[in-house]
Amino acid sequence: KVNRLFKPKDTIVDIGGNKFGGGYFSVIAGPCSVEGEDQIISIAKSVKSSGAGLLRGGAFKPRTSPYSFQGMGLDGLDLLKKARKETGLPIVTELMSPHMIERFVEDVDVIQIGARNMQNFDLLKEVGKTNKPILLKRGMSATIEELLMAAEYIMSSGNENIILCERGIRTFEKYTRNTIDLSAIPVIKKKSHLPVIVDPSHAAGLWWMVEPLAKAAMAVGADGLMVEVHNDPANALCDGEQSIKPSRFEEMMVKLRKIAEIE
Ligand code: PEP
Ligand code: MN
Repeated sequence: KVNRLFKPKDTIVDIGGNKFGGGYFSVIAGPCSVEGEDQIISIAKSVKSSGAGLLRGGAFKPRTSPYSFQGMGLDGLDLLKKARKETGLPIVTELMSPHMIERFVEDVDVIQIGARNMQNFDLLKEVGKTNKPILLKRGMSATIEELLMAAEYIMSSGNENIILCERGIRTFEKYTRNTIDLSAIPVIKKKSHLPVIVDPSHAAGLWWMVEPLAKAAMAVGADGLMVEVHNDPANALCDGEQSIKPSRFEEMMVKLRKIAEIE
């Protein structure tokens, strides 16, 4: 089902008028994690005014250490809903376990499956039974084939509304958090009809690299971006080092729109 051979035309995933694929490009932005009402609402308002079409924010966080901030959980979901009500932005947030699925179906606009769960086959089958758009992130050690087969799991259960996401893979290079695999974009677009976006934030791990990688993603034909934006990166509870401030996000969006016009 994921193969372009059997569906030559691009799939367009449309979330409240924000389209991914088929020549459409949309931007998801927001903090790594929801940290509080003022934080999420102020970030939501500013990324919206800069042109983001969807708001991201983790409520359930897959952290390396069990002692790190694990997210606000259901309270975080409620705050995302408040931010959506204030701004009209659809919300994207990560589902880590099948037992929360009903709540996610009810509350969120896009269910994110994180890199660490890309091959959690039970989770993939469960989200495949829903009719929600799914943002499926590439596992940090997954091949392109494995990413596409993970999408196939979701599709085989009935849900074909999937956006793929390249977020960097593990290589021997340690300067960046992950190595962005830009070649994955043209490969995926050749092999599959599904839209594919790039997350330059988790790829780089460093805020100053987000803009050049976002530009590169656009140049190789990505269908959109997901970017971490925080109002106070130095004090962020998660991923501050790779988060850009709202003002820098605004500048980046102006530059990206200029590149899009030239194209
Ligand atoms: C995220 O986007 O919140 C996240 C945890 O990213 P990844 O799954 O790509 O590490
Ligand atoms: Mn993050």
